[in-house]
Amino acid sequence: MRPLTPINGTSALTKLFSARKTQKIIPDLLKAVLFDFDGTLVKLNIDFIQMRGAVLGLMGDYCTPPDEMGDLYVLEMIEAGKNFISRNNPGRENEFFSRAHKLISNMETEGSTEGELFAGTKDMLYELRSQQIKTGIVTRNCMAAVKQMFPDIDSCCDVVITREFTTRVKPHPDHLLTALVALDTDAGFAAMVGDHPLDIAAGKAVGAYTIGVLTGHSEASALRDAGADLIIEKAADIIRFL
Ligand SMILES: [Mg+2]
Repeated sequence: MRPLTPINGTSALTKLFSARKTQKIIPDLLKAVLFDFDGTLVKLNIDFIQMRGAVLGLMGDYCTPPDEMGDLYVLEMIEAGKNFISRNNPGRENEFFSRAHKLISNMETEGSTEGELFAGTKDMLYELRSQQIKTGIVTRNCMAAVKQMFPDIDSCCDVVITREFTTRVKPHPDHLLTALVALDTDAGFAAMVGDHPLDIAAGKAVGAYTIGVLTGHSEASALRDAGADLIIEKAADIIRFL
């Protein structure tokens, strides 16, 4: 597979949209759509505040976490916690890291038992496929939880990149680039769809067209502030723009 280079600035799709001064039609240039998972294709049922609290609590078994640790997203918190413990309680950092990951994976898989796909998700994925548009999932969630909520995901999407399959998770661009390389699609011909500003930030970082959805916890204003090119009610609505 050829390596992809992130494109700085605006994607070809964005330029075309501006040229047409319309957001009615996603043009033929669209070759792939990447989707976030929780809050975008399935009902968000992870309590991230509770999860972060649990990780901070676990860290307390090793040393007192610094205040600023509480502001991090949970995966970044585990990474920072490991580094902090390696300095303050050396030799225990790997134990913390593995316990913390087990803790959040358990919370994710427990949460996923109540998870359900949003109505119209599979039809939308099939419709994209019928129009020769490739699809990928890029999620910070773990594969076990994703498969529990969407057991036949592999037959509905071309690639699924959970956190186990990328060296750096979104908002780092590597996560999206891993999916785009697997799809053999340049970011300039791809759209990133997500419910969180970090999805929009990641999409913009690789030069993809970015679409915010309102099925998660973020308001339209937050997605707009992050730079979303288009905001739609729900991911299934994307087919109305094709
Ligand atoms: Mg999400």
